[in-house]
Amino acid sequence: MKTVTLGQTGITVPQNAFGALPIQRISTADAVMLLRKAYDGGMRFFDTARAYTDSEEKVGIAFERMRDKVFISTKTGATTKEKFWEDLETSLRLLKTDYIDIYQLHCAAKCYGEGDDLYECMKEAKRQGKIRHIGITAHKIGVAEDIVKSGLYETLQFPFSYLASDRDIKLVQDCEKAGMGFIAMKGLSGGLLTDSKACMAFMSEFSVLPIWGIQRDAELDEWLSFFENETVMTGEIKAFIENDRKQLLGDFCRGCGYCMPCTADIMINQCARMSQMIRRAPSKNWLTDFWKKEMLKIESCVECGICKTRCPYELDIPNLLKKNLKDYKEILEGKEV
Ligand code: SF4
Ligand code: SF4
Repeated sequence: MKTVTLGQTGITVPQNAFGALPIQRISTADAVMLLRKAYDGGMRFFDTARAYTDSEEKVGIAFERMRDKVFISTKTGATTKEKFWEDLETSLRLLKTDYIDIYQLHCAAKCYGEGDDLYECMKEAKRQGKIRHIGITAHKIGVAEDIVKSGLYETLQFPFSYLASDRDIKLVQDCEKAGMGFIAMKGLSGGLLTDSKACMAFMSEFSVLPIWGIQRDAELDEWLSFFENETVMTGEIKAFIENDRKQLLGDFCRGCGYCMPCTADIMINQCARMSQMIRRAPSKNWLTDFWKKEMLKIESCVECGICKTRCPYELDIPNLLKKNLKDYKEILEGKEV
């Protein structure tokens, strides 16, 4: 398994890491089993967040007696210095540790710089030894570009998958040039990409650390299998990715949810990509009474346009929703998927 070094942090780990958001949905015993199995299988980097309910606690229990053998990153969504310190102390306690390898500002609305409370808190926390490296996560490409240009952060966490645009790829390259580590989230694009081998092969072409969201044993087995069978890009995988990109690019919703909340309470991040989801996952999961009700809410869109101003991909959301609803209704009436 190829290793990757996260910029100037010097953290060097296998290019196959654990995203601990989904473990908040399973029991503590199952989560601890999964985390330890991931370690035994070769994973060394684990990413969590204060916002992922009890995920930090589970990570803390799993690695309490082997803290020096793993790298742990977590995040704070604080917007004030008081909340920053409260979050940091809570994370340290729950993770059962006295330091965090990479502490990240979670989903930053802008690039916080010198003089901003949050950035000053980060520097102070590092000075105190409570955190080893200063990181940040963003979902908007413009914000991410500002972060890279600022040169103030040691790592950037940003969505990256084989659906990446040229601008996303340039961001990764600029990060590398700037000596900043790139942690790739949403490598399966919110569940839309289902071929783990193609996703892994794509990542192996870049200096990025993918954190795969893992909830089930079978998912973990799939990711761990790459430690034994290293995946590299081949002509066949390239052709597969090209074909998938053709099907999915364009007015394609990535499911990030940054357009929400919706004035009419529409679950945009699922409903605006129903046509793709229903064709890529078992379709019956999307034909339940719950989803029928959610999809019908599209009819109450008031065209306020607020969602459009928030979408990082500048999608025409109201029309995209209508297209998805039309297709969904046809499927309900018997159209083949
Ligand atoms: S335009 Fe429609 S979908 Fe967008 S926020 Fe307004 S009501 Fe919701
Ligand atoms: S419409 Fe845009 S902002 Fe909303 S979930 Fe999809 S990609 Fe994200």
